Parts: sequence; C-alpha cells; structure tokens
Amino acid sequence: MENLENKKDLTNENIVHICKNGIQYLQFRKLLEYKDILTHAYSIGKENFRTNKGKDKPIDDIEYKNSMYNYRKLCDAIGCNFNNLIKPIQRHTNQVKIVEKKINKDKPDINLIQYEDLDGIITSKKDLVLASTNADCILFLFFDPIKKVIANVHSGWRGTSMQISVETIKKMKTLGCMPENIICCIMPSIRKCHFEVKEDVKNIFYNQCRNMKELNEIITKDDKGETWFVDTVKINQILLKKEGLKEENIIDSGICSVCNSDLIHSYRVEKQNFSLATAIISLI
Ligand SMILES: [Zn+2]
Repeated sequence: MENLENKKDLTNENIVHICKNGIQYLQFRKLLEYKDILTHAYSIGKENFRTNKGKDKPIDDIEYKNSMYNYRKLCDAIGCNFNNLIKPIQRHTNQVKIVEKKINKDKPDINLIQYEDLDGIITSKKDLVLASTNADCILFLFFDPIKKVIANVHSGWRGTSMQISVETIKKMKTLGCMPENIICCIMPSIRKCHFEVKEDVKNIFYNQCRNMKELNEIITKDDKGETWFVDTVKINQILLKKEGLKEENIIDSGICSVCNSDLIHSYRVEKQNFSLATAIISLI
C-alpha cells in the first residue's frame, strides 16, 4: 500500500483514506470489521466513473473506456470482480430493486434498460458488485451483517425528498433484515455548508420536515438574501433512525464534496463537464 505522504489525507474517525495500485479510495472502519465477507470503496481523486451514454449529457467512447478502466482498477484494488459490476442508471427516483443475478454474462451490467428509472439496488448474493455514482448527491452503502444483505443507493436532493433511504429499509426487510442490525454508511456529498437552495426547493424540504423537532437545524435562511441552506444528510439520519436503525450504525464520512473538490467530484464546482465518483460494495 503506498502512503499518502505529501498528499491530503481524508482519514477521520469513521473512514480511512487508502492509496493502492495507483488509485485512491475511502473505506469505512465499521465495514472493514467485516472484511472477510465484504469489500467496499468510495473513489477519491481525479478518476472519472461516468458511464452514461444516454440522452442526458452523453459521454463519448474514449471517456466511457476510461471510466471502465477506472472501475477495473478500483475493483482490483479492493478484491472484487469487475465483470460482476451492476450499476443502475440513476434518474433521481425513489425506486430500489433487489437483484439476484447479472444480465450480461462476461461484462458489467452498465447502462442497461433493466436498470432504468432505478436509484438503488440490494442483493444477498455473493460476488455481485453493486455500484453507484455521484458528484454532490448522497450515496449510501447499507449492510446487514446478520442476514448478509447489502445495498447501494443514490439519494440526491430529489431522492431525499422522496425518502429513498426509507424505501431501501422497507425492501431490505422483505429479505428478513431487521433495522436494528442494518449499518448505513454515508459517502462524501454536498453538505449544508454548500447546499444553498432557492425558495422552491426549500419549500419541498420544509413540507417534508415541518414536524421534525430538528427543523431549525435542517433548514436555515441565509442572512443576506432569499436563499436557504438545507442539511439533507441530517434529514436522512432522522428518517433512518425513525425506521429503527441504531444511531451508532448510521456512519457518516462527514465530508463535503464542495469543500474538498480537489479530491472529490462536485457538480457545483465542476459544472457542465463534471466527472463522477463511485461507491462500490460486494459480498465476497
Ligand atoms: Zn461544504
């Protein structure tokens, strides 16, 4: 393992920042306790994991190949099978699906119509590598060590307002998972310090959170003008606790993508030609 000397180190009480095989990534200390049955990572650095060839801001073949090369490097570094990657298209929905097997045989399931309109995937099957991508949006990695079930979920502000984290817990329960056993890890994302919204978005969250006693912490008005700052991580933490997750099992990286945009991709910083980071998780 190469060291991070002379480089910024994002290690904190919940995560470790690793540099291996020329690629950087974060791992959660809590998930590393289960490294005999589980592997995971959140990519750090300039590498791009954008793969969408669809109508929304399509990428070209060179960029696609480069992203797949980066996936291969990351999978090799953490010991999972690149060919078993499954990634939903991510359309800011609250749809979560249980997957049992791959669709493609010898290559990753990426950009497949079967994963259209889907933002979260769950599995209890070994060796399926669940992937998601972000640039400011929240990504969650879920793990139930008792039932050995994992989930990988994309929750942008729309997903948070539609409570995709709650939908995930409901689906995991259909596989026999008990909420008190489920661990939820929160990847780097835009945090309240930078998630500044106008009145229309503020109102969506106000309606969602009006009965939460933490409302005044979740939404604060900017002194200068007609904008607000919203804490979408806190909203999810409250929702997950209400679903029965233990506070100590909701583990936050505590990292803002905008504050750390030198190492973490941020749509708000990179704008039109943004790159994406990835979170991957697999039972092994
Ligand atoms: Zn920030």
